[in-house]
Amino acid sequence: MIPREPSRNPSLGFLYIPPYRIQGISIAGEQSFVQVPELDVCFDIGVAPRTALSSNYVALTHGHMDHSAGLAYYYSQRHFQGMGTGTVVCHPSLERPIRGVMDAWVSLEAQRTPYEVSPLEPEGELEIKNNIYLRAFETVHTVPSLGYVVVEKRSKLKPEYAGLTQEELVKLKSEGREITQLLNIPLVCYTGDTMWGKHFEREDVLNAQILITECTFLEEGHRSRANVGKHLHLDHIIDLLEASTSEAVILTHLSRRTHIGHARKTLERHVPARHRDRVFILMDSRTNRRRYEEQVAAAEAEAQTPV
Ligand SMILES: [Zn+2]
Ligand SMILES: [Zn+2]
Repeated sequence: MIPREPSRNPSLGFLYIPPYRIQGISIAGEQSFVQVPELDVCFDIGVAPRTALSSNYVALTHGHMDHSAGLAYYYSQRHFQGMGTGTVVCHPSLERPIRGVMDAWVSLEAQRTPYEVSPLEPEGELEIKNNIYLRAFETVHTVPSLGYVVVEKRSKLKPEYAGLTQEELVKLKSEGREITQLLNIPLVCYTGDTMWGKHFEREDVLNAQILITECTFLEEGHRSRANVGKHLHLDHIIDLLEASTSEAVILTHLSRRTHIGHARKTLERHVPARHRDRVFILMDSRTNRRRYEEQVAAAEAEAQTPV
């Protein structure tokens, strides 16, 4: 008898929430990386497949192996492929261990891979693109952990000066009047592994255009397991949906034991209808592919419509 084929690797989860692509793989305890190519950032790096290499920044939420094991490979492959030195942003307590890991690789390989580590205190910010900042916030997990919000800083005319002519504005400015204000627009939030807490009351978390959150447990009786492992349960996501204005809430870090079809049905059963069209499961390839095909078809139809 011929042996069976090996089971295939999980395929890359993919969602297009204009103008952002959210792509990656996230399975609790095994591997998590979630990349937003348009923002040049990959959240966590449990493995480092080719696609993840193109981001200049990795925002590491915590040190658990399923989120950090691809670190050295990310640095090394970027260097090998001539893509420049990668930067890993992390909790301050992880800077030394990361340097230790990279030192260990020098002993193994007898060569030195260039790398950058950029520790970020909670509430610290790092500019990753023009006017686009990565902001860290404290989360609660079994080890030191951070969540991140990518924030755009846009300067905008103060509402009281709207409607004034260019000359009037120039005059006000020359008189030393501050005519603009700085807006902080939360674009994408990634929570990483975390239990429920005060950070879910943050304005930049609740109002991020896209909120990517862990949801490790879905089953009715698993709320206490979620608390023990300092993770979230679907019940928390339902509370979160009530408070959040995000256009898309993307669930990651489901356990492999949770069959995706079952997860989808559980969401349909428990998430109130008014929220259902903005909740996605990153690894639900079938539903996400269908949605993407509809987006492609709609774009093609629009392109063919005579103006
Ligand atoms: Zn994890
Ligand atoms: Zn963890």
